[in-house]
Amino acid sequence: MSFPHLLEPLDLGFTQLKNRVLMGSMHTGLEEEKGGFEKLAAFYKERAAGGVGLIVTGGIAPNMRGRLAPHACQLSFPWQVSKHKIVTDAVHEAGGKICMQILHAGRYSYHPFSLAPSKVKSPITPFTPSAMSARQVNNTIKDYASSANLARKAGYDGVEVMGSEGYLINQFISSRTNKRTDEWGGSYQNRVKFPLAIVKAIRDKVGKDFIIVFRLSMLDLVDNGSTWDEVVELAKSLEAAGVSIINTGIGWHEARVPTIATSVPRGAFAWVTQRLKTEVKVPLVATNRINTPEIAEHIIASGQADMVSMARPFLADAEFVNKAAANQSELINTCIGCNQACLDHTFSMKRATCLVNPRACYETEINFVPTTNKKRIAVMGAGPAGMAFSVYAASRGHEVVLFEAKSEVGGQFNLARKIPGKEEFNETIRYFTNQIKLHKVDLRLNTKLDAAVLKQEKFDEVVISSGVVPRDLKLAGFDDPRVVNYQQVLNREVEIGQKVALIGAGGIGFDMAHFLCEKESSTLQPDKWLKQWGIDKEYQQAGGLTDEAEHHPSREIYLLQRKTSKMGKGLGKTTGWIHRSVLKQHEVNMMTGVSYEKFDNEGLHIKVGEESQVLAVDNVVLCAGQESNRSLVDEMKATGLPVHLIGGVDVAAELDAKRAIRQGAELAMSI
Ligand code: FAD
Ligand code: NAP
Ligand code: SF4
Repeated sequence: MSFPHLLEPLDLGFTQLKNRVLMGSMHTGLEEEKGGFEKLAAFYKERAAGGVGLIVTGGIAPNMRGRLAPHACQLSFPWQVSKHKIVTDAVHEAGGKICMQILHAGRYSYHPFSLAPSKVKSPITPFTPSAMSARQVNNTIKDYASSANLARKAGYDGVEVMGSEGYLINQFISSRTNKRTDEWGGSYQNRVKFPLAIVKAIRDKVGKDFIIVFRLSMLDLVDNGSTWDEVVELAKSLEAAGVSIINTGIGWHEARVPTIATSVPRGAFAWVTQRLKTEVKVPLVATNRINTPEIAEHIIASGQADMVSMARPFLADAEFVNKAAANQSELINTCIGCNQACLDHTFSMKRATCLVNPRACYETEINFVPTTNKKRIAVMGAGPAGMAFSVYAASRGHEVVLFEAKSEVGGQFNLARKIPGKEEFNETIRYFTNQIKLHKVDLRLNTKLDAAVLKQEKFDEVVISSGVVPRDLKLAGFDDPRVVNYQQVLNREVEIGQKVALIGAGGIGFDMAHFLCEKESSTLQPDKWLKQWGIDKEYQQAGGLTDEAEHHPSREIYLLQRKTSKMGKGLGKTTGWIHRSVLKQHEVNMMTGVSYEKFDNEGLHIKVGEESQVLAVDNVVLCAGQESNRSLVDEMKATGLPVHLIGGVDVAAELDAKRAIRQGAELAMSI
């Protein structure tokens, strides 16, 4: 067997899990949609059939005031049971097991009725919570137990009690947020009474043969978090109170340390779970940035944990476990940690999906059924849009010829993958490369598609996915060889000096600044990365942070934009702050409201407001957006064949790979 430790069953006494894979909790947005539970059932059913050992649902509130948002899902009344049964039946039919996560958001609730141990506002929500009365504390404990009991009635195999990431239970545990002077506050023993009372109340209500997972915050990554000794003490008490599994929680949502973004090294926090291994007997789950069977196997085989939790990897590929079991990990569509279609959607109140797998959470809506009208299709360009179209169209039975002018597939992903912290983008290219082979797409590298090619071979339709070209700026002195564009820099066609000005501060401007200041990617060096973000593996202070993070500025960089708005405003909702922090660590000068005048031997002449300045830089790198590569569109249309445009060639503005891949998939579904 390829991954013997990962695929080994886990005996919980009263029940067995078929392997060590836990699908971590994710809110999809379907929970609140009309008819969403049927779609949710299809979503979970595919993951159960795909081999997951234990699924955990998105967070469900135990009462109204604990909801994360005003219309968030809650399980408190018997009439709410039936819709959950649609989900549990579907999962059981597919041979899976599923726990419902109970989540009370406390002061993270996004509504004015939020409740918390004390009246302390969180830095990431606009509402100040009310402090719970002792009666409300007792009622909330009962609500947890009642919700768990209803979950049992709905057919769930267990519940996960969300005790980490800074939600209500975490708020009780920490003196940072618990300022109470009654029996629920003060000493650590008093502060942990709340989670322990919840677990005991649930166990009393549901009996012995029901899984209780407790998600324990093992590393808070905020000031005044728990000390390591306190984490151990609570873990032991939870074990005694009857939990079946302890899952790892890393970092409160308000922590200023990335915990799941693509730049976090794979398995970067497994050492935290490992620290607890010798302290308790109950199975422990390692989490965060585990995205391949290889890293998951390593974590279990090396004794760092008994199970691994992966969440987003199951948006990217429902068949992850089955493919691992069949020794086909090269066919797994790997989660690249971008957050663009999952968490960024959730935070914008949109349905979650996946950049690399547009079917995620659309299982009943996007399907690639065999065609009854087979066509021969020419595709121009093997970037994300062209690759996605080709493999999905070929999977339906179309005959697809994919032309790529360059010597490799991937388009601009070949540039993205060179950015420190974006190494995961390699995996998407590897995935599509293998899918192209699997579905027998006729790939022609180093071959430009034009009208002449179309005259030599017979095609029924043409798909143009020729992408974008960098925007050129025609300003005085910009024809100097010291003024270059981002593609030349990333392809290492030019040498860049110590002092650099970057024109344009969109996603690519930020990435370019990062590329120029970080010579060796810290993402590939976990210990260096932990130091960069001030995380202390020795756990000497409460919360696990060090006093000083380590930074080494290496170049003098100016990142410029014309707009006067905040730098990086258009970056991902959940990742923009990380990009800004990295550039601050490297002391990049960020300037807004800039107009560009000329470049000469003195440097780049700019105006900020009415004030003229010269930035004495060695190079200027243009990151000023892109334009559609439409040079061959008219020529293609003139052939008389039906022509379709997808990805950057269709619309360059606000293009990202999420749109490019989705457009490719949607066209493949309908052609
Ligand atoms: P492209 O990727 O531009 O691909 C077009 C392909 O067509 C190319 O391979 C080209 O060689 C080929 N071609 C052109 N003409 C012909 C012809 N006549 N015949 C044959 N082949 C032809 N997006 C994100 O979503 N998230 C990110 O984090 C992200 N980071 C990025 C970082 C960098 C540094 C860069 C440069 C881009 C990044 N992007 C990111 C953007 C993303 O890569 C693009 O949105 C995406 O690649 C667009 O896909 P596409 O298929 O439309 O075009
Ligand atoms: P972009 O986000 O549109 O940014 C272009 C930048 O160039 C802006 O800062 C713009 O700011 C400036 N600009 C535009 N026209 C200009 C002109 N004529 N003269 C001077 N400056 C000009 O585009 P991008 O950075 O090229 O990125 C392309 C796409 O790739 C993005 O849409 C993004 O979605 C995707 N991407 C995403 C990520 C990610 O992390 N999610 C990373 C990289 C790329 P001003 O107009 O204010 O000067
Ligand atoms: Fe992973 Fe990005 Fe897909 Fe989210 S959108 S699941 S982070 S690949």
